[in-house]
Amino acid sequence: MEDSVQIRCTRCKNVFRDRAKRLQNGYSRQCPSCEVVLFFDEDSPNPHIKKAMRAARRLRKEMREMESMQSGRATAVSRRFSGRSASSAQDEGADDEG
Ligand SMILES: [Zn+2]
Repeated sequence: MEDSVQIRCTRCKNVFRDRAKRLQNGYSRQCPSCEVVLFFDEDSPNPHIKKAMRAARRLRKEMREMESMQSGRATAVSRRFSGRSASSAQDEGADDEG
C-alpha cells in the first residue's frame, strides 16, 4: 500500500513525496529541488501544506485500519453485517406438554 503523500513546494512548486507517518505538526523538511525548508502544520497558512497534512492524516488512518483488519479480521466483518436483520430470536419451545 502507498504510504506517502504528495507535497507541493511553496516556493518552486515542485511536487515531491514524503511518508505520511512523518507529516505531523512540527515536522520540517527541505524541498529536494530548491532546498527551501518547509514547515508542516495543520494550521499552516499555506494551502499546499494544509492539503498535504490532511492527506497524510487520512492515509495514516487508513493504514491503521488496514493493520487492525489484518490482525483482527473478525471485528471488521461483523461490523459490516450489522444492520438489516435484527435478531429474530423469539422464544420457541416454551410449550409444556405433560
Ligand atoms: Zn522547492
